[in-house]
Amino acid sequence: MRPEEEIKEIFGHLKNLIIANQEIGMDPPAISNESIKYLKADTTDTGDNTDQPDHKKSLDALREHIGNCRRCKLYKGRTSLVFGEGSPYARLVFVGEGPGRDEDIAGKPFVGKAGKMLTRIIENGMGLSRKDVYICNVVKCHPPGNRDPERDEIEACLPFLKKQLAIIMPEVICILGRVAGQALLGGRFKISLERGKWRSFMNIPVMPTFHPAYVLRNPTRDHQLRSQIWEDIKKIMKRLDLEVGK
Ligand code: URA
Repeated sequence: MRPEEEIKEIFGHLKNLIIANQEIGMDPPAISNESIKYLKADTTDTGDNTDQPDHKKSLDALREHIGNCRRCKLYKGRTSLVFGEGSPYARLVFVGEGPGRDEDIAGKPFVGKAGKMLTRIIENGMGLSRKDVYICNVVKCHPPGNRDPERDEIEACLPFLKKQLAIIMPEVICILGRVAGQALLGGRFKISLERGKWRSFMNIPVMPTFHPAYVLRNPTRDHQLRSQIWEDIKKIMKRLDLEVGK
C-alpha cells in the first residue's frame, strides 16, 4: 500500500472510532503513547506487533461499558448478553442477526445448528479456525420466539456493533442474511438480489451471503443455497489472499 493510502486508511479508522464512541457515549479514545508509537511506526517493518493498539483491551472496555444492558426490551427475556467472540485482530468478521436460544444459553454466538454450519464453512471451507475470525450479531440479546429483531432494538444495539468493528478494523465483513444486511446496508437491502456483491460499511468491504439458518429452513434448495454461499465465501478468500481449494 502506498504511504498516502496508508495514512488515509489510518485516518478513516480513527474517524470510525471517534464516531462510534460519540454514538455510545464513551470517552473519546485517549491518544496513548502506544497509539503515537503505532502511528509513527515504520509501516514497512514486518517485525512483531508489540506496538499495535490493544484491540482486546478496547473490546473488554466496550463490554464493560455495555454492562447489564437494559437499553431495549430484549433484556427482559435474555439469559446472557452475547457480545461476540473470536480474534480481536480478525481480518474477517461475520455478522449475524441475533442470538438464538442455544446462543442465549451458551453466551456465545453461532453455537446451535446454524452455528455448526458456519463453523464448517470457516474450518472445512476456508481452512481457518473459528478463533481466527470474529463472530457477532446485530443485536446482542435473544429475541423471544426467534422473531426478527425490531427496529428500536436494532437502533439500540447497532452502535455497539459499530464500535466493535471500529476496534477490530477487519479487512472484510461477511453479512449473514437479510436482517444483518438491512441493518448495515439499509432497509431496502434484498439478500437474494444482493448476496455475492461487494458493498461497503464504515469503509470496510462487505460481502453479504445467505444466513446458514435460511439453508436449514429450505431443505429443497439445500444444494443450490450451499453452492451460492460457497461462491460468496470464495470471493472473500480471494480478497484475503487465502488459498481457494475448489
Ligand atoms: N443466528 C444468528 O443470527 N446469530 C447467532 O448467533 C445464532 C444464530
